[in-house]
Amino acid sequence: MVLACLVQEICQSLILGQELIREVCDRLEEEINKGLGKDTNPEATVKCFPTYVRDLPTGKENGRFLALDLGGTNFRVLLIELGDKCSMDSRIYAVPQPIMVGPGDGLFDHIAECMASFIKERDLGDEILPLGFTFSFPCKQEGLTKARLACWTKGFQCAGVEGNDVVELLKQAVSRRGDVKIKICAVLNDTTGTLMSCAWKNQNCRIGLIIGTGTNACYMEKLEKVELWDEDRDDPPQVIINTEWGAFGDSGCIDFIRTEYDNNVDRESINPGRQLYEKMISGMYMGEIARQVLVHLVSQGLLFGGYSSDILLEKGSFFTKYISEIESDKVGDYNNCRNILEELGFNDATDADCANVRYVCTCVSRRAAYLAAAGVAVLLNRINEESVTVAVDGSVYRFHPHFHNLMVEQISHLIKPGIKFDLILSEDGSGRGAALVAAVAARTDAIR
Ligand code: BGC
Ligand code: MG
Repeated sequence: MVLACLVQEICQSLILGQELIREVCDRLEEEINKGLGKDTNPEATVKCFPTYVRDLPTGKENGRFLALDLGGTNFRVLLIELGDKCSMDSRIYAVPQPIMVGPGDGLFDHIAECMASFIKERDLGDEILPLGFTFSFPCKQEGLTKARLACWTKGFQCAGVEGNDVVELLKQAVSRRGDVKIKICAVLNDTTGTLMSCAWKNQNCRIGLIIGTGTNACYMEKLEKVELWDEDRDDPPQVIINTEWGAFGDSGCIDFIRTEYDNNVDRESINPGRQLYEKMISGMYMGEIARQVLVHLVSQGLLFGGYSSDILLEKGSFFTKYISEIESDKVGDYNNCRNILEELGFNDATDADCANVRYVCTCVSRRAAYLAAAGVAVLLNRINEESVTVAVDGSVYRFHPHFHNLMVEQISHLIKPGIKFDLILSEDGSGRGAALVAAVAARTDAIR
């Protein structure tokens, strides 16, 4: 019991009260305003890139499309058929770690190779299908088919890509091969794909949210609030903004809630000082935060009799999926927890050890859910419509047993009275969403 109290004391810094969360909301709101302002954007950390997507799907889009999806754990090529229903065929290709941190040409050659083999396997060579490229990194878009990478995030760090147009790099890689023809109709972020995919059948969808390897959100904004927008302001007077909120905090403005564990995770990452909000929320980091806390508890003699295993001391050994699994155990039961601890080299963990490990997991995941909720609440309050659907995707949201409920509960505390919202799992934004952006682009090209 005494031990449990000490554990709680150590985890106290991970617990965010309502006042702190409200402060986070205020600061994010400020950062978004800076991102959207013409003069303030260059220094802003939350970049709020206009996506050039200004129309939502009608639900009547049709045709066959190719989509590429790069930015999560894997690379995927998809063939999508839009009609009354949407059907799709896809294949996952691994992106070997050396390619993720090697030269940019190597990455794009790899993508082109996977795409070429997909096209050949399915005999799609004769027809040049419109292609949507879901590229889930911060890009400054200069049109629907032009996106300059601002900086790599998550596990990627390929030389020679930052500052360049990724559509151009893909085209070059395809022409280096010379064996397939493609027509790139749109380049988009996964959040945009998620929003579009849900908006296809849901009229109220205005926000796309990812809580997966990384985190980010986009939303439909009125052009009058996008000072940054240099293009025409004709109808429709709106544009989807890719907030890139993962970088929230990179100015130091959320240091007041960051802990020594967050500092350690950041310091040991491939992009120290960057994506600080993302590092408190998303799947690439949640497990590592928990591991930092666990190692600290062991060092204080509060876990496993004060003896660590070699595995637990290795960076990255406590996977984020462990958090979901441990929290999926029924109350009073530690089945998953014990199996995981065994994998980590603890063969005789006590019930108290298990209870404490689970407690750490709940603190880390609850904080992540509340922080993500704060972000969604800021967007809902900005949009300020009576009823808004939030399309969500990503492994953390999908597989954590309580993430959805924790978010809904916290968002409810933070939004203006009178706003109603839903969080809906949006299946396959990166595929269907990419096809829809390509389809909508074809439609509006015809009109404009
Ligand atoms: C990227 C975003 C992306 C998010 C989710 C972040 O690291 O910067 O562009 O939307 O991850 O995949
Ligand atoms: Mg993805």
